[in-house]
Amino acid sequence: PPLVIAIDGPAASGKSSTAQWVAQLLDVRHVDSGAFYRAITFLAVASGAPADLWTEASVLEQANRITWRLTARSVLPLVDGMEQDEALRGTTVTRNVSRVAAMPAVREWVNSQVRSAGSAVDVVVDGRDIGTAVFPKAQLKVFLVADTWERARRRLIQRLSRRPNDSEIAEEVEALVARDAQDATQSAPARDAITIDTTTVTQEEQVERIVALGRA
Ligand code: C5P
Repeated sequence: PPLVIAIDGPAASGKSSTAQWVAQLLDVRHVDSGAFYRAITFLAVASGAPADLWTEASVLEQANRITWRLTARSVLPLVDGMEQDEALRGTTVTRNVSRVAAMPAVREWVNSQVRSAGSAVDVVVDGRDIGTAVFPKAQLKVFLVADTWERARRRLIQRLSRRPNDSEIAEEVEALVARDAQDATQSAPARDAITIDTTTVTQEEQVERIVALGRA
C-alpha cells in the first residue's frame, strides 16, 4: 500500500509546515486536510447565507465544485478548478471553519477526498483526526503539541512577518483556545501516535526526527 504518514495536532502547532517539509525530504506529496475544510467553508461563506442558517445539506450542495489535483509536491484542493490559497487562510473562513467541520456529512466528504488522494500516491497528511478516523492504519502517526503562548507567537510571526507584542499574543491565544475548544471533539491523538512537544524544539529538529521515524 502507499505510504501514509499522519501528522495531527491543535491549531498553529506547526502541522502544515512540518508536514510539507517532511513530505519534501521523503519525496512524497503533502496533503493539508484542513484546506479541504477551508475550501468548503469558503463556498458556504460565498453563498451569502448567514452562518447560523448553514445546514449540512446546504453546505454539501457545493462540494462538487471542489476537486483536487496532484502537483509535484502536494495534493491541491481546487475551487471551480482554481487554487484559492490566500482566501482559504483569511479570517472569515478561519472564524467559520470549525462549525462546518463539526458536520458529520462534511467530515465524511473530506475523509473520502483525502483517502482517495492517499490511495493514489505516497502522502504526508496533516489534520486533527488523520491517525484516528482517516487513516487508522497509517505507517507512522505523529501528534504535535506546543505551549499555547508559543503557538500564538509563531502564528503571528508568520502572519505579520515581525515580532508581535504581548497584547497581540494574548489576543491570539484567546482565538486559538476558542478554536481548539470548538475542534475538541474532532481532535485526538491515536493511541499509537508519537507525541512531539515542539515548544522548545526547532522546526528543523522536529522535521528530522519525523523523517528518521518515517524512514525506519
Ligand atoms: O489545520 P487548519 O487550521 O487549516 O484546519 C482548519 C479547520 O479545519 C480546523 O480548525 C478544524 O475545524 C478543521 N479540521 C478538522 N479535521 C481535520 C483538519 C481540519 O476538523 N483533519
